[in-house]
Amino acid sequence: MTVPLKQTRFRIGGMDCASCAAKIDTAVRRLDGVADVSVSVTSASMTVSHGGALPEGKVLRQVARLGYGIIKAEARIDGQASTVKAYDHADHGEPASKQAVASTHLHMGGEPGQAWWRSRRAVLTVAYAAALLAAYAIGYLFPAAERWVFLATLLVGLVPVARRALMAGLAGTPFSIETLMAIAATGAVMIGATEEATAVVVLFLIGELLEGVAAGRARASIQRLADLVPKTALVERAGGTSEVPAEDLSIGDVIVVRPGDRIPADGEIVEGSRYVDEAPVTGESTPKRRGVAETVFAGTISTDGVLKVRVTAAASDNTIARVVRLVEEAQEAKAPTERFIDRFSRYYTPAVLAVGALVALLPPLLADSDWNEWIYKGLAILLIGCPCALVISTPAAIAAGLATGARRGLLMKGGAVLEGFRGITAVAFDKTGTLTAGRPVVTDIVAYGRDERTVLALAAALEQGSGHPLATAVLDRAKADKAPVPPALAAKAISGKGVEGSVGGVAVFLGSGQAAGERANMNEAQRLAVDSLNGEGKTVSVLAADGVVAGLIAMRDEPRPDAAAGIAALKAEGIRAVMLTGDNRRTAEAIAASLGIEARAELLPQDKQRIVGELRREGLKVAKVGDGINDAPALAAANIGIAIGGGTDVALETADAAILHGRVMDVVRMVKLSRAVMANIGQNIGVALGLKAVFLITTIAGITGLWPAILADTGATVLVTANAMRLLRWRG
Ligand code: ADP
Ligand code: MG
Repeated sequence: MTVPLKQTRFRIGGMDCASCAAKIDTAVRRLDGVADVSVSVTSASMTVSHGGALPEGKVLRQVARLGYGIIKAEARIDGQASTVKAYDHADHGEPASKQAVASTHLHMGGEPGQAWWRSRRAVLTVAYAAALLAAYAIGYLFPAAERWVFLATLLVGLVPVARRALMAGLAGTPFSIETLMAIAATGAVMIGATEEATAVVVLFLIGELLEGVAAGRARASIQRLADLVPKTALVERAGGTSEVPAEDLSIGDVIVVRPGDRIPADGEIVEGSRYVDEAPVTGESTPKRRGVAETVFAGTISTDGVLKVRVTAAASDNTIARVVRLVEEAQEAKAPTERFIDRFSRYYTPAVLAVGALVALLPPLLADSDWNEWIYKGLAILLIGCPCALVISTPAAIAAGLATGARRGLLMKGGAVLEGFRGITAVAFDKTGTLTAGRPVVTDIVAYGRDERTVLALAAALEQGSGHPLATAVLDRAKADKAPVPPALAAKAISGKGVEGSVGGVAVFLGSGQAAGERANMNEAQRLAVDSLNGEGKTVSVLAADGVVAGLIAMRDEPRPDAAAGIAALKAEGIRAVMLTGDNRRTAEAIAASLGIEARAELLPQDKQRIVGELRREGLKVAKVGDGINDAPALAAANIGIAIGGGTDVALETADAAILHGRVMDVVRMVKLSRAVMANIGQNIGVALGLKAVFLITTIAGITGLWPAILADTGATVLVTANAMRLLRWRG
């Protein structure tokens, strides 16, 4: 029997190194009832999966004991007040502040807006550095007391570190960075290098502080997106307007947006036609004209006049909020490289301890070398062995990559997806709504035996319940021609084929020529008519009534403006592009020829899925791009499923990635972003390991001592995070 898992989300303060995340992971995983844990340093959050009764108090205590601040974040989709319990542990983690409560309430996540230099850790570090300077002064004035003054200073810095090492050890992580530090500093005191031990601890603390600052920047970059949405809105109620908090807006409210204002909610224009600057959300620099019934996004700017907008999504559910939430969740989902590094560092730290011990013991024992000298070198090796730079190398780059992508409308649900894009060798596109704009227009109506208006009326009757883009086209035309739309009985959509039902006692079908052929006989003249329309790149749906062909409805859906360029860009990267469509072969080929893509036509949804499977069996790594309308199985069958074009909500939830701005070019951008991120990770690992190798050699050779050793680790960590942050400026 399997119990469905529940998930509880927490926000964590004071995590600034991936090894912190690993420590928390291990500690929480050990608790009874916990099935899975995922912790993200960059989004400062943890999700615990459990089989029902989660010992929440225990989770809070366990994490607080390790020295981190933790609060529970709850209630996400429903937009209710969220934070239930605050747990403030007075050690070193930034305590959970009221601001955290506010930001989780908005579901936009992020850290409390506390300045890094005011955190407990910063205060401790500064106090400790000041004490160190004082110790130097006192030592200079009273040389006899020097050793004791340094020792006292050291204790101030070392005790909290040792305490964290102990707590992590008790919670299942005996080999932590703190353990290495504590052993190295204690050892140094024992061989008389007290002064140096003190300096080492201060460098360690400064390094940790800088890492925290760097990790906070990735978080801030995502948070800035959320900040684009104004906090208040002018809402029209009972004749007047009043200012209300944006999060209190409800669906259906009509808001007034003044020129130059940011739009406070996702909505539909009810009055006014203005240039809207969508750059903040779409990255598109030229403002676009948006008129009545068109969609506008929260965070975009009405540039030239007043707009009235009807709210279509609550604050917690607008596009930006959903993007922020997806990115945060994505950051918790680890990439394979990240998992590998995690596993690696589990063995790495104990191995470093062993090597340090061997270096300290072997030369004096075997070659009768000087004990103090080799113990000193052994301790330096412990410091070099700190894996901080290595463990942060991958998650920092991935977090920055996910954040950058999100800001450019490229959403990826996790490190694994981001990493996977690099290896894509084939992209299969859906046609309608993917390569085309998905706004088909009826161009021709041909009637057989009835008049055109009746053909349109019958077709429109069937389409009323359908969500297919073609249905919208037919209904729009019926409205424009003022054709009556009678009700249809037992209407149903046949995926990839069309729609059928009963209208006024007549059994009617509207759909592809192929599917219509199974239901009615088409004569030669009709076949020719369809053929010639198809040849013009038009999609033809055939109307059959009581087993007789009653008419043809031809529709044309223009390709997206950048479709041809987007496909060419993929080919330039050596990636194969294929169009999969349920449409007629001639139409498909006419469109494919204009786009320069190979086409597979007349496919049912299961055929699309099968073809994706075949491509994969050929050894290709396949991405499938679609709008999710009847192509969800193929999206799922691909290595990476990509939803395009604001997409239906279903597509966004089920696909691995989403292209928000409906640009075909964005597919290749995702591949390039993935390559940039993976190259960045390569550089990071190179720097982290390279610096260690150099200092390992100089230490053994006796050229460098304790403090350069720790500087090598913190220095590498800072370099690695700074390098990863370069990705935040990626343009593609
Ligand atoms: P695509 O692969 O381009 O997304 P679909 O698989 O959705 O196309 O549909 C295949 C064909 O079936 C369409 O070209 C059209 O002729 C017909 N069809 C499907 N659904 C409808 C509908 N709701 N109204 C009219 N025709 C439809
Ligand atoms: Mg489709």
